[in-house]
Amino acid sequence: MPTTPEASQIDAAREWRRHLHSIPELGFGEHKTSAFVAEKLRSFGLEVHQGIGQTGVVGILRKGSGSQAIALRADMDALKITEQTNLPYASTHQGQMPACGHDGHMAMLLGAAHHLSRHGQFSGTVHFIFQPNEEHGRGAKAMIADGLFERFAFAEIYGIHNMPGMPVGAFATRAGPLMASEDNFEIRFRGKGGHAARPQVANDPIVIAAHAILALQTIVSRRVSALDTAVVSVTEVLTDGTRNVLPETVILKGDTRSYRPEIQKIIEAEMRRIAAGIAQSFGAEVDVTYTQEFASTVNHDSASQHALAAARATPGIDRVDAEPEPLMGSEDFGLFLNHKPGNFAFLGNGVDGANGQPLHNPHYDFNDAALGPGIAYWSSIVHRKLPA
Ligand SMILES: [Zn+2]
Ligand SMILES: [Zn+2]
Repeated sequence: MPTTPEASQIDAAREWRRHLHSIPELGFGEHKTSAFVAEKLRSFGLEVHQGIGQTGVVGILRKGSGSQAIALRADMDALKITEQTNLPYASTHQGQMPACGHDGHMAMLLGAAHHLSRHGQFSGTVHFIFQPNEEHGRGAKAMIADGLFERFAFAEIYGIHNMPGMPVGAFATRAGPLMASEDNFEIRFRGKGGHAARPQVANDPIVIAAHAILALQTIVSRRVSALDTAVVSVTEVLTDGTRNVLPETVILKGDTRSYRPEIQKIIEAEMRRIAAGIAQSFGAEVDVTYTQEFASTVNHDSASQHALAAARATPGIDRVDAEPEPLMGSEDFGLFLNHKPGNFAFLGNGVDGANGQPLHNPHYDFNDAALGPGIAYWSSIVHRKLPA
């Protein structure tokens, strides 16, 4: 089964990667990026659909008579960071940078479409999904709302993220939780403002909010099982008070993480109960806004076994870790996994220089040496899942 892309195909992917690197665009602003991706997919002979979830693109490659279909996904957006790599192909868009390596994710997926359109010996349909706005967790939702699942029938979905600090040729994924959900909250206490010297005729919401800040920590310690994982962080305390004035309002803002929707529900419900109870006990009013920003990324069992087997059979991948520690960071791919079986995996980006810098760092760069293993992995997923 031909899973090794030719050197000329990897060279082409490197050119596309460097071009995409030079034109980074923020979420839902990926106009040049998506036009480039669509043009390449068309040039390989794929059926191409644009404008799905604003700037999203789907390319379709069919071979043989097989009725099975899968989807492979890359993300397209960049970050509001000023690049400091001094690379010859550095960002030409002031203040915008592909600092999460999504340029490399696109190049790997374009490389796979290129390779499979020419040398693929599979039977079935592959959907190449290029998703906008991953960084703010809005793109997957937009594509789904725009009919992604109804317009494109596929049974499973797979994703890759590059990982600095893992050597090139290393691959890691696991069945079950891989990345956390992210929810945000805003709790607004309204008391009664007044003179700092006469609190007895006011109703100081700072003291009320202070009780709430401490009580919120009991959600994880007393409402979530010790065998589960959750984080509740109050990250901002905003008041309209000043040196000698007790405020009228205190706003607490923060962020919560967990791996399971059940835990998200517990955190939200307990937060609302604690805020309402504390406000009532002090005679104040409270409003709670709780929003789900990212779903958790929980890999499905059989798709993960498939991903691991495909990686073990991929030329250029020489180290496969089937039990990596889950990360508390979040990834928009998780939302797809709430609807479809699939797997999200990490691919080594190297440990040295710009390739070993952390994601979202102004000195980071995707490693072109990871293109070959990435393209070969995609090819391996397709050939093993849709055998001719
Ligand atoms: Zn990112
Ligand atoms: Zn990313």
